[in-house]
Amino acid sequence: MAKFLIVSIDCWRYDALSRTNPRFNTPKFDLLTRDYAFAERYFVTAPATRPSHTSLFTGLYPFEHGLLGQTYLKMFAGVAHLFDIFAKAGYSVRGFSERPDVFRFLDFAPFIGPVDPAATQQHLGSLERLCAELIEPSGPQFKFLHFWYTHGGYGLGEIPQRPDLGQLVAAGQVEEALRYYEAAVIHVLEFSLVELLRRIDLSEWAVFICGDHGEGFCGEVMAHGDRLHPNVVHVPMLAHVPGGFSFPRDRAVSAIDLFPTIAALADLPVDYRGFGQNWLEPSAASADRWVLSELDSLYGVGFLSADNLRLPEGHVTSPTAIDGEEIARYAEGIREWCLCDGRHFYRENEQTGGYVLRDLRRGDDDLVCEAPSYYRAQYRALRDRSAYQHTQAQSEAAGEAAILKERLRALGYLD
Ligand SMILES: [Zn+2]
Repeated sequence: MAKFLIVSIDCWRYDALSRTNPRFNTPKFDLLTRDYAFAERYFVTAPATRPSHTSLFTGLYPFEHGLLGQTYLKMFAGVAHLFDIFAKAGYSVRGFSERPDVFRFLDFAPFIGPVDPAATQQHLGSLERLCAELIEPSGPQFKFLHFWYTHGGYGLGEIPQRPDLGQLVAAGQVEEALRYYEAAVIHVLEFSLVELLRRIDLSEWAVFICGDHGEGFCGEVMAHGDRLHPNVVHVPMLAHVPGGFSFPRDRAVSAIDLFPTIAALADLPVDYRGFGQNWLEPSAASADRWVLSELDSLYGVGFLSADNLRLPEGHVTSPTAIDGEEIARYAEGIREWCLCDGRHFYRENEQTGGYVLRDLRRGDDDLVCEAPSYYRAQYRALRDRSAYQHTQAQSEAAGEAAILKERLRALGYLD
């Protein structure tokens, strides 16, 4: 197989799709994706654009690739990613984003440009031009497209009398607030994406369409970056592979699985030792798999500041340092992790040890959790068994690693 397209829709919630929400009126998109497989239990590794995409392209969890949170500046050194691997294998490799700046300083950022260099507002760029560059008539290709129109604001900017959606949610009018978000998703699915998908020859292309994280619209989290919650970690993933494809049915799947799956489909020479599982060859031993999501806002929650966008590339010297100096800490920063098996959601705050267990189908009602030690053991096993600890040790600022280790030990994660 030699043609791959990955489409990511920013903030795409699990229920913002007709397959999971009958209210969603997207008949053209539904026809074009009718034969795509749908992952019912697909989870991202982080509730933020930068760490989540880095996992998608490296097959590694945030603690392994170095982008622990949205405000971390760069990846650990020497982490392999799909853009580079495909480029070295002779593919035509290109990415297009409605907000390419959000990938600044990441190793794969040089491969990702704007949707339309001539457009001031990227969602108003030329779809014709994009389609022509994204779907070249021949030759091996690895392409990526990132929609940002669905991100906070949801296309409401400059519209007079636009409502404050946070206030609506706080006042209990969640359905009313969701209408604006859903309209932005429907615009992307039923207009922009349809124009692209109808030009794709499905006998040649493997296509993956997914969210990079969801969006809260609930009392615990309004947007996405400041809390782990089922609404932000459980998102849609649709996939088409020529010759047929289905997701493993009985278990959770993760964004880290895409790397080994695509590497196998393209027969790429990779030395991959991460926790991701090739969807075409799920291991029987992992039917009760728990997949990890991580949140780290120790340095803040937003990346797109003028300082970050103006900073010359060479000044970033580690994931958390500019010219060797640690960047400013965020007083309200937290570290959380959660584990999901597709039915349950367990979340723990790494600093306080506070935790909740929930049934994914039953929303925000906490379940009684008799044994947090079970989930802590699963988490500890991932950290202890990671084949990428050497990479971390090499790249992490030594002080930071020591602080984290101390914290983990105090909470009983480390012996
Ligand atoms: Zn995002």
